Amino acid sequence: MATFDFIADIHCHPEMKPFGKSYPQGFRHDPDPRQPNNVWKRDRVDFLESLGLLFGLTKFRQSDLSSGTLGRVRLLVVSLYPLERGFVTGANGRRHGPRIDALVNLATGVGPACIDATQATRDYFPTLEQQYEFWRQLDGRPVPRGPHAGRHYRLCRTAQDVEQALNDPQATAVVFSIEGAHAFGPGAIFHEKPFDHALLLERITKVKKWPHRPLFVTLMHHFYNELGGHAPSLAGIVALSTNQRHGRGEPLNDLGREVVRRLLDPADGRILIDIKHMSRQCRDDYYRLLDQEYGPHTVPIVVSHGAVSGSALVANNPFLNEEINFDDDDLIRVARSGGLFGIQLDQRRIASAEVIRANKNQLDRGRWRWAGLVWAQLRHVAEVLDHDGLPAWNTACLGTDFDGIVNPIRRFQTHDDLPRLADFLLEHLEAYFNQRGGPPLQVAANRELPPQEILNRFLGGNALALIQQQLVA
Ligand SMILES: [Zn+2]
Repeated sequence: MATFDFIADIHCHPEMKPFGKSYPQGFRHDPDPRQPNNVWKRDRVDFLESLGLLFGLTKFRQSDLSSGTLGRVRLLVVSLYPLERGFVTGANGRRHGPRIDALVNLATGVGPACIDATQATRDYFPTLEQQYEFWRQLDGRPVPRGPHAGRHYRLCRTAQDVEQALNDPQATAVVFSIEGAHAFGPGAIFHEKPFDHALLLERITKVKKWPHRPLFVTLMHHFYNELGGHAPSLAGIVALSTNQRHGRGEPLNDLGREVVRRLLDPADGRILIDIKHMSRQCRDDYYRLLDQEYGPHTVPIVVSHGAVSGSALVANNPFLNEEINFDDDDLIRVARSGGLFGIQLDQRRIASAEVIRANKNQLDRGRWRWAGLVWAQLRHVAEVLDHDGLPAWNTACLGTDFDGIVNPIRRFQTHDDLPRLADFLLEHLEAYFNQRGGPPLQVAANRELPPQEILNRFLGGNALALIQQQLVA
């Protein structure tokens, strides 16, 4: 059995459903953990799960703080995300009919009031501010009733805040990130007029002044945001009702560069860039900008919720080789920069369609098989880095993307499933290290680390190190 102190998740959306459900109450965060507009509210999975399996969507909550408590997920990088209009309007900005609305509600679980407001929105920034305020309402407030009475979450500003929260058995440490720079405003009505540059930079400055400054911003997301190109990301039933074409695959443009420089400016607190959702071209443009203006490997590069493309493997690539996933040179870049690679638990990304299909058809050793997909990611990262002479086990961590409109891998669908995942990962790690002749790694230090230590770094240590380093002292 795996032993560990805590689990860190560097990308999840615990407030996505509670905040959506708070629209009719003026964004009030109800202190009662039984209410839908509370981040501790836990759903029963059994019945709703069948819906998820039917449509490839999950309606039940996955990263609510009660599930996190049960799974000892005690360090969360919460991703604030104003729902993009592209989900609820056509490419021309017009509203969908009620049937599509119902579908989007099923996919997101945010409730009809949130969907109506998103359709009407012309600016995402007020929503971003409301989401931040939603968290602040119950910061440090003990849960008043139920199985987790007395527990609380603590919004962390400094490295010491994180340390104190982790040392307090009643606390969950929360740090913020933002998914999609559309949250600052651009992209909402780009087909009418370009977003005001000065206002955009002003808003970044404003967010930098938040008492709890976000750790990183995922620059791109699903739809064009006037800063550069995104990678195709939607499939299946959601893709049918949406249109990601505009801006897809484009480079990082001048406004995008300006936003990057403003976010990275250390003068008023650096906010790192998360390269997830960038087009291939955009990623390369960002690397070039870093090399030219900051010096190589000086700014940590974050992939908050990613999977590998395995592109260097010759035959039978078990990974999903698509633009949204990360190539070997991305992994090396991230590691050399001292960044993080959060592995996501999403069926649509974590392996090729054939591998997923084969897993579904095998009924025996289900948990071992599905955990094997996570292990394959961790192992690929390690072997690519080792091959380059780098530390193999300091870069990967968990970035589940739970509650982010995902189709999670079977058996590991909520935060309370993660300790079981840890057990199976340890089994895979031990088998890898115990194989005849030892693991196929070149660097002695990579070969000599005990599996339990590798697991601890993956579950929490790697994420904690970067978070502590980036937060103010
Ligand atoms: Zn995402």
